[in-house]
Amino acid sequence: MEKNTIVTVTITDIGVDGEGIGKVNGYTLFIKDAVIGDVVEAKVMKAKKNYGYARLMKILAPSPHRISPKCAYARSCGGCQIQEMSYERQLQFKQDKVKGNLERIGGFDASFLEKIMEPIVGMEKPFQYRNKAQFPFGTDREGQPVTGFYAGRTHDIIANTDCALGVPVNKEILEHTLAFMRQYHIPSYDEKTGKGLIRHVLIRYGFTTEEIMVCYVVNGSGIPQSKELVDKLVTIPGMTSISVSPNTKRNNVIMGDSYKTLWGKSYITDYIGEIKYQISPLSFYQVNPVQTEKLYGLALEYAGLKGQETVWDLYCGIGTISLFLAKKAKNVYGVEIVPQAIDDAKHNAKINGIGNAEFFVGKAEEVLPEFYARYGTEHPGAQAHVDVIVVDPPRKGCEEIVLQTMVRMKPQRIVYVSCDSATLARDLKYLCGEGYELEKWRAVDQFPMTGHVETVCLLSRKAQ
Ligand code: SAH
Repeated sequence: MEKNTIVTVTITDIGVDGEGIGKVNGYTLFIKDAVIGDVVEAKVMKAKKNYGYARLMKILAPSPHRISPKCAYARSCGGCQIQEMSYERQLQFKQDKVKGNLERIGGFDASFLEKIMEPIVGMEKPFQYRNKAQFPFGTDREGQPVTGFYAGRTHDIIANTDCALGVPVNKEILEHTLAFMRQYHIPSYDEKTGKGLIRHVLIRYGFTTEEIMVCYVVNGSGIPQSKELVDKLVTIPGMTSISVSPNTKRNNVIMGDSYKTLWGKSYITDYIGEIKYQISPLSFYQVNPVQTEKLYGLALEYAGLKGQETVWDLYCGIGTISLFLAKKAKNVYGVEIVPQAIDDAKHNAKINGIGNAEFFVGKAEEVLPEFYARYGTEHPGAQAHVDVIVVDPPRKGCEEIVLQTMVRMKPQRIVYVSCDSATLARDLKYLCGEGYELEKWRAVDQFPMTGHVETVCLLSRKAQ
């Protein structure tokens, strides 16, 4: 296959990020935006020995799974990957993706996986689900400020104030901001020169409380005439917190290290289930609260708590899962590497009146083995007894020493929450080789319109 060749391809499979896959005379092509079942004309952009990448040029015959996208920028914008695939088919794709990895990488038998699986948890309304958005600012050819999202792979801004995954109020905030910038000649930041002022705006919306937070990331210490901007923003019902976060560094990190409140509170409040959270501009918080409640509800269900259990929550972040579990357990211990997240976790425990959760700052691969070495079962007066361990690691999964220590601690149940089914499969293989059994698994769609999928698994200790 040669670069620039125009080919006709029938799309027969879906790649890990949701792209279409088809074959031309045995040669595999990956085609972004092509939907399984489409017949397309595509131009080969990159040709390797056994496979290549092609650009979708024309849809010759649309797939029955193809729908017209809600957003006019669905293809060019880097935010969504599969908006043109029907939501039903998206869910199928995600469930198959997890199953495929458990089979290939985890070594589990396909019919066994099928038998113990619970059907993927989708959304009733798979749009406007994000409670947080960070919009970059730039300048268009006429020298006017623009905002929107980055195109996939580049930092070119696709101007759009009406993202289909975000809440409707984003548009109003962005329009006020652009009008203010035009009126007072406040320039957008320019990554290439390091000049200009407004870099990003972070918008957060509490789905339960309807409180709104706006935080401007600026290349400086503040915004001139900010009172004019604030006066406009406070006319929006629910406005609760307006702040600036200075970031004068020339890097890809969005937020600065600190923030100053311009108006209102320094945080907004929101709920996941019955647990209340105070969220400041720099806190981590789950972006899809509706699905998070379902995901962590499942983790709680799989944990099977009766009230007397000791539970560990590794990679606990701001303690969302820990606090869910604490209401049903005797004790919960959370471990998290980011100190600010642990501060939030402790604070959240306090404002919810939860006294049986304790949090440790550190790497799971250090905290857990150290705890076990000190209090483990081979010591007199062993305190390392644990009934359930929940893990929710980042994409790279758990370090082997974490898995090894978990096995030594002999919890009856392990609940594994994962955002990357490939590393999940690798880790399950390890645990199932060390005396655990996969009882059930379920995929949860936290990020409709993208290729991501979360999974919850329950493992139990085999009788010995
Ligand atoms: N359940 C959490 C989110 C988990 S996301 C919540 O509800 O907030 C994964 C978390 O693992 C992140 O907070 C990340 O900071 C943390 N993390 C990453 N590497 C880690 C490590 N080696 N040890 C402990 N925590 C880690």
